[in-house]
Amino acid sequence: MAVGEPLIELRGVNKHFGALHVLRDIELIVGRGEVVVVIGPSGGGKSTLIRTINRLETVQSGSIVVDGRPLPEEGKELARLRAEVGMVFQSFNLFAHRTVLANVMLGQTKVRRRAKQDAERRARELLGRVGLADQAGKFPAQLSGGQQQRVAIARALAMDPKVMLFDEPTSALDPEMINEVLEVMRQLAQEGMTMVVVTHEMGFARSAANRVVFMADGGIVEDRTPEEFFRSPESERARDFLSKIL
Ligand code: ADP
Ligand code: MG
Repeated sequence: MAVGEPLIELRGVNKHFGALHVLRDIELIVGRGEVVVVIGPSGGGKSTLIRTINRLETVQSGSIVVDGRPLPEEGKELARLRAEVGMVFQSFNLFAHRTVLANVMLGQTKVRRRAKQDAERRARELLGRVGLADQAGKFPAQLSGGQQQRVAIARALAMDPKVMLFDEPTSALDPEMINEVLEVMRQLAQEGMTMVVVTHEMGFARSAANRVVFMADGGIVEDRTPEEFFRSPESERARDFLSKIL
């Protein structure tokens, strides 16, 4: 899939938590339809970086633009941004007391103001896409971790996001469930969804990413194609990281 004009633009972004400088002069442009995988050691700022893109974290300096618009401060505009920038976390964060179907309908009726009937149609269609058409009436606790994470993906997609952010979506899963989630993500990537994915799944990075961004100590150390990155990482930090996980 060809990569289009910039959809996400971070320029000169800095963030501190008190005395801790967690994002350092971040420059990151993600094109429409591009899949960027962010990897690096724990504590390097990966989660903070992607959380800034839907304003779950504010920054002290720099600019963040999504689809040509600076991030809104609050109110309706912020709610719309959160719908347009879908996010999937390590923990699935489903509503425990609502059915799978209701979980995928809720944001559609509340935020997108869709009629119930339309929301249900869309929810069922998306549950079909993630392979869970027959689980619509169950409650989250009745599903496996891999199934719950696929519901979380369907719920984010139901808002018709322009971009999907994933923060270690398979890290909390039993090994045999990792692939079913990665497969849904691969499919999304193939369909042209713009994605920023923090993951330790190097197979996914190799097969689905247009670019690999390696982060350490709050900075972007390398930003290259997966072929280049895995063949010959330029930095000592990246070589050291890869030697530990591969
Ligand atoms: P990663 O996702 O790469 O493991 P994080 O973005 O979670 O890294 O964290 C980067 C640094 O910021 C770490 O040192 C972490 O302890 C710190 N940090 C993250 N969130 C907070 C917070 N809410 N308050 C203070 N420090 C934080
Ligand atoms: Mg993290």
